[in-house]
Amino acid sequence: MQFTEFSLDTRLLQTLDHMGITTPTEIQEKAIPVGLAGKDLMASSKTGSGKTLAFLLPAMQRVISSRALSKRDPRVLILLPTRELANQVYSQLRLLVANTQYKAMKILGGENFNDQAKLLSRDPHFIVATPGRLADHLAQHHIHLNGLELLILDEADRMLDLGFAQQLKAINAAADHKRRQTLMFSATLDHGEINEIAAELLKEPKHVAVGAGN
Ligand code: ADP
Ligand code: MG
Repeated sequence: MQFTEFSLDTRLLQTLDHMGITTPTEIQEKAIPVGLAGKDLMASSKTGSGKTLAFLLPAMQRVISSRALSKRDPRVLILLPTRELANQVYSQLRLLVANTQYKAMKILGGENFNDQAKLLSRDPHFIVATPGRLADHLAQHHIHLNGLELLILDEADRMLDLGFAQQLKAINAAADHKRRQTLMFSATLDHGEINEIAAELLKEPKHVAVGAGN
């Protein structure tokens, strides 16, 4: 199949075209329809299988096609375990938002906290963050998640390995409302804490697993 067969905004299809990406990978083929349908998702597939676009495309489409709950609060929050992984996702997100009117920002550990607080006051639509730093801004009321429509946890197994369960739960609680959708991605589902965190954060999730994971 082709990306053009999904119900995606023309601007997203144009960006994919410019990236030279035409055919979805297996995880994209299975996860994107779930994301577009507004359902919660627990997905696993190995590294390099294209998980990033599997969540960025539904995230972009949701923001483009739905009315904001709040004009000021972020609409999509993407959490990753490390700065390096967050930067990789952010660079793909930048390409997608560049063709739209939406703003994306990254909030990572190891960078200046006050500078980040100022950036947050510019009301980005998309935030890519590491959980510790995002939770710190939440505690300082630099960010409000009442209008969050989509929470994405990428590399969820690694976030748990790094001891972020508490921060994930705090972020989840701050963004707890009926219209919120949650997408969780992991290289493996074979992890003791994954099921516990999934049970707390996801509502009647669809499960998509490709290959054996790694
Ligand atoms: P994962 O998160 O599963 O490890 P990524 O999302 O980082 O994988 O994707 C790995 C690489 O594959 C990236 O360079 C990305 O641009 C490329 N890629 C993703 N989807 C496709 C696709 N449908 N066709 C060709 N290349 C793709
Ligand atoms: Mg990835």
